Amino acid sequence: MSERVAIVTGAASGIGKAVAETLAGGGDQVVVADLNEVEGKEFADRIGGHFVKVDLSQRADCKRLVNETLTHYGGIHILVNNAGFQHIDPIEVFPENTWDKMLGVMLTAPFLLTKYVWRTMKTRGWGRIVNISSIHGRVASPFKSAYITAKHGLIGLTRTAALEGGEHGITVNAICPAYVRTPLVENQIADQARIRGISTEDVVEQVMLEPAAIKRLISPEEVAALVVYLCSEAADAITGADWAIDLGWTAR
Ligand code: NAD
Repeated sequence: MSERVAIVTGAASGIGKAVAETLAGGGDQVVVADLNEVEGKEFADRIGGHFVKVDLSQRADCKRLVNETLTHYGGIHILVNNAGFQHIDPIEVFPENTWDKMLGVMLTAPFLLTKYVWRTMKTRGWGRIVNISSIHGRVASPFKSAYITAKHGLIGLTRTAALEGGEHGITVNAICPAYVRTPLVENQIADQARIRGISTEDVVEQVMLEPAAIKRLISPEEVAALVVYLCSEAADAITGADWAIDLGWTAR
């Protein structure tokens, strides 16, 4: 299929940026949706995409993103729900407004965007939705209550949407990466060291890499390659699945 239109949220950085760049490189029209206007606009211009500034914790922004994409390109073939952020704190002191915001951006926004793109995909009889969950959508670790709850919920949303999308040619899958080398992970190393009372080197070795069979961080491009596959015709039979790309983290 030529001239596909893809919305990638959180595409100004990290995994989203790699996904947007890879899809654009394959000939797709890409909408870069992000809170970060400076990075997002510059990046969208570079890949020949279209930037939409959004705060995905706001329902109106989710609606505007879909409407603006439809106005600009006339349809939507692919939705990649990727935007997210991390906050590390024990439950006892976890800020309640941060909990609300994390569930808003990483669970409610994917639901709303799925809901708003549904009609155009259903009408065409073809659509691809890829939700960037996490290894923490499958297993838990301490101090990440909101993140882990949102990512587990996102797998539930993936399965439900897959069941509803089957008869309309819409596939919906989740990807569950372990630690990927992005600003989100670089920033959390110091936070984990503070909470656990260990050095930053020990955070990488003991917390991030110890459970993995392959002892390294994942690159954003490795996740992007899986997104591209799930959006291809070759993946037509794959839906409702949560794809681990986790260096063997969950094998034990
Ligand atoms: P990142 O910090 O590099 O990029 C996240 C992007 O999301 C940023 O550009 C940021 O501006 C955007 N964003 C955050 N809040 C937003 C909001 N309210 N509205 C719009 N945009 C917003 O992070 P990343 O590591 O590339 O993470 C991308 C996704 O992958 C996240 O959902 C994350 O949970 C998931 N993930 C990351 C890892 C990892 O190790 N990096 C592992 C598993 C899953």
